[in-house]
Amino acid sequence: MPATASRLAIFQESVIREMTRLANQHGAINLAQGFPDFDPPAELIEALEKSARGPFHQYSITWGSARFRQALAAKITRFGGPEIDPEKNLVTTCGSTEAMMVAMMTACNPGDKVIVFSPFYENYAADAILSGAEPIYVSLQPPDFGFDPDELRRAFAQKPKALVLCNPSNPCGKVFTREELLFILELAQEHDTFIITDEVYEHIVYAPHTHVPFATLPGAWERTLTCGSLSKTYSITGWRLGYVAASAEIISQARKVHDFLTVGAAAPLQEAAVTALEFPDSYYADLLAEYTRKRDLFLGYLRQTGLPFTTPQGAYYTLVDISSLGFTNDRIAAEELTKRIGVTGVPGSSFFREPVHRYIRFHFAKKDETLIAAGERLSAKLTV
Ligand code: GLN
Repeated sequence: MPATASRLAIFQESVIREMTRLANQHGAINLAQGFPDFDPPAELIEALEKSARGPFHQYSITWGSARFRQALAAKITRFGGPEIDPEKNLVTTCGSTEAMMVAMMTACNPGDKVIVFSPFYENYAADAILSGAEPIYVSLQPPDFGFDPDELRRAFAQKPKALVLCNPSNPCGKVFTREELLFILELAQEHDTFIITDEVYEHIVYAPHTHVPFATLPGAWERTLTCGSLSKTYSITGWRLGYVAASAEIISQARKVHDFLTVGAAAPLQEAAVTALEFPDSYYADLLAEYTRKRDLFLGYLRQTGLPFTTPQGAYYTLVDISSLGFTNDRIAAEELTKRIGVTGVPGSSFFREPVHRYIRFHFAKKDETLIAAGERLSAKLTV
């Protein structure tokens, strides 16, 4: 057999998705892959039923149906994002997973370097490598996951073509401050670097922290590719609806990448999702209140274990430090917790460039009853 592409040897299959399979195999509570076990809003399901009966069963416009883009542009601007012309500044994608790949392939040439903060969501390195680019890493230092300005300067001195900014950040829950973002922007301007953002958790930012869309910083627009998603905001991860928002010049190129990758996102789902994009502001306030409550509920159980853990400023993940429990490594710990306790998390090492093996990542985007069941198991069996 001929050899498969050598770039595939440099990264592995997603550990997050693998942990979902492990949880299913053992009937464990899956707090690994970040997706809700509760239904999306009822109005949205009704809209989907309606769109199924409508004329939406063929391709939509490749960069997204006009209605969807109009509703999305209005929603982005309504929440403090940049002014978006739905005809020029958007490409609708199959989830932000495709959006990030499109952004990376639009920005980078083979051989280019891409700055990725570590810990990072595992897709970013794979996206860079599949684009022929090379990820270079800058540490976010626990416990508050700030970066060392000098380390970032040294990374920029390597002339990267792009920097990936996940804000709010998965898995560490960091929400970047305006000052930090301005510092990143200044370096990006100095070295003529693109900023590719992943802002899928933009509406899950806990008080007193606030989300600053990178593209709205003065002078950022021309070099920012904002990737977003409807998955987390409307609890519809299976619908695979995301987008890239950027200048007309960037989007005209990004559309080509998207077109040849997937042609388009599912037409009936785009149609139904317009309903969600038109939800009133109260929907978003309620969503945040719910996640704030779920965070406090789940972290309350973790507190009983006596183990250190991170309190996220945004998104819905926590990293639990299991180093005192005596496992050989975090991978074995995740497997053992699945089998013995019936709760699955993701081994933290899959998010770190550095050799960090002391964390398990759990998420709390689950029904209260699921969180209570998982919390009771963890607090009973995981105590130090
Ligand atoms: N973003 C979610 C996580 O980090 C889901 C990832 C995925 O499988 N697409 O778990």
